[in-house]
Amino acid sequence: MTIPITKPLFGPEEQQAACEAIASGWVTQGPRVAEFEKAFAEYCGAKHAIATANCTTALHLSLLAAGIGPGDEVICPSMSFIASANAIRHCGATPVFAEVREHDFNLDPDDILPRITERTKAILPVHQLGMPAEIDKICRIADKHGLIVVEDAACAIGSSYRSVKIGRPFGKFACFSFHPRKVITTGEGGMITTDDDDAERLLRLLRQHGMSVPDTVRHRAREVIIESYVCVGYNYRMTDIQAAIGLEQLKRLDGMMADRQRLAERYNCAFADLPGVCVPQPPEYVVPNWQSYAVRLTDEMSVSRNELMQRLLDQGIASRRGVMTIHREPAYADLCVGLELPVTEAASDHSVILPMYPQMTDEEQEQVVSVVRKALT
Ligand SMILES: *Cc1c(COP(=O)(O)O)cnc(C)c1O
Repeated sequence: MTIPITKPLFGPEEQQAACEAIASGWVTQGPRVAEFEKAFAEYCGAKHAIATANCTTALHLSLLAAGIGPGDEVICPSMSFIASANAIRHCGATPVFAEVREHDFNLDPDDILPRITERTKAILPVHQLGMPAEIDKICRIADKHGLIVVEDAACAIGSSYRSVKIGRPFGKFACFSFHPRKVITTGEGGMITTDDDDAERLLRLLRQHGMSVPDTVRHRAREVIIESYVCVGYNYRMTDIQAAIGLEQLKRLDGMMADRQRLAERYNCAFADLPGVCVPQPPEYVVPNWQSYAVRLTDEMSVSRNELMQRLLDQGIASRRGVMTIHREPAYADLCVGLELPVTEAASDHSVILPMYPQMTDEEQEQVVSVVRKALT
């Protein structure tokens, strides 16, 4: 492989920070996690940020803190990574899939109302590929029907909606991922932002075994403290080694987004005159972080999506199918008998993600463009 789908961007700063965490002797959740949470909350303009092991656990805890449990329904898109819906099932609740809009691959606000029942408790919109969903409209529908909004912002760190950064919660919770496929990475890692003080306390409890007094506090105490366990919690902690890396990644974020923006513009220009290809068109009210660059192939295409992917691979260039559909996966077969989501299925089947990472050179990008152009003409 000469051109991968993505590549994390690390420098000596991340290496140094990880080494310092190790040298300090405190390697699990500790002072560096607290520092990362503070920096993250400040970056997003949120009151609280709570670090977790990954975004799937962030979503699980947020849904639990929203009171979601067995018998409840949560409306979410099927066109998303499977973790969006799995987190709902981890609570014993049922995901109810709604359509996405074909121009931004995000939850269609007009398809929410028809799916609301007396069991609906929450809406879980996804800011897909870093492109913010129409969150104002979704929150208005939620408010009207007494539903809680949990934003799956796994890919959307740094993106903004009507000049507000994703993460200053529009809904009650926003959940982020630091997996290497996302814009900043800590290997694995997640973060929840919320403005609600009670929810923050509950999330911190649930994250750490339901422990009444965190180990960091006992470590510093001058008098013996015996902790108690006030609820059945989880071990969903981030480590201080990861947080140390995260703090350095956060400093690079705006620079990496500028690189991605430039690469996206170059792709858009290169494909502008190419029949059969629709380039992404962010709605005028959003600024995406370009976590992924996905093009949609139209019907007059001479090759299929999978053939195009194979031609790229033959030249050593990675690509990925567009965002998956959850309702067509075997794990969801029993839940989704007879469910058809034509807009979602077409959007997923006809889109392809092309390589993009901040270090991508103009030559590398030209190689990708040239293979795509040759395949399509
Ligand atoms: C990556 C991703 C997740 C899962 O994130 P992890 O940190 O790997 O658990 C969830 N939802 C969406 C939309 C994602 O892209």
